[in-house]
Amino acid sequence: MSRDIESLTHVQEKLGELYQKLQDSLNADTPIVVICGPAKCDDGLCDVCDQERKDECFYHERIVLKQCLRAENCLPVLFEEDFDLVIASLEETILLREDEVEKVIVIPASEGSAAELAQFTRDPKIRPKLVVLVPYQYHPWYSEKGSFLTSLYMEIMGVVGHIYPYDRTGDKHPKASEIVITLMRSYRLNKLASTM
Ligand SMILES: [Zn+2]
Repeated sequence: MSRDIESLTHVQEKLGELYQKLQDSLNADTPIVVICGPAKCDDGLCDVCDQERKDECFYHERIVLKQCLRAENCLPVLFEEDFDLVIASLEETILLREDEVEKVIVIPASEGSAAELAQFTRDPKIRPKLVVLVPYQYHPWYSEKGSFLTSLYMEIMGVVGHIYPYDRTGDKHPKASEIVITLMRSYRLNKLASTM
């Protein structure tokens, strides 16, 4: 082996080791991500519905996000599934303010979840963690101006910026799961870079 090839092999091995170390550090970081949004469908059919119905259901969308985040080594939480909250509006706020909760994903597709989003937006400890996912048809760039939700989105865009339009079919915009995965990868890499 010539000297050049020998040193190149050495550099490749070294970089390979460093890359593995980076992956190990990323895997060791397991951020808690809370997924808020519409509750189960009123008629209780959420658990047994067929695929067509699931494609319409925002609770199911939250479950899909939970599965994707778990596969990415995050610790996703759906309050309704994982805790038995009694006074949810207050308990949620207290939990979401904790430093261990690093991201708060909201799909504001029901009256209750829109009200929650308004509350979180005005909470200085929760606001920086917000990731808002909106079906693209309702994103301020595409929808009618003037509604309460649109003006709330504009407010969030002006302050924290994270209002992502998504497309269930993945046709015009990425799917919600693709957005969340990309975002969490970038978030964790940035976190790692800031500690090096
Ligand atoms: Zn449902």
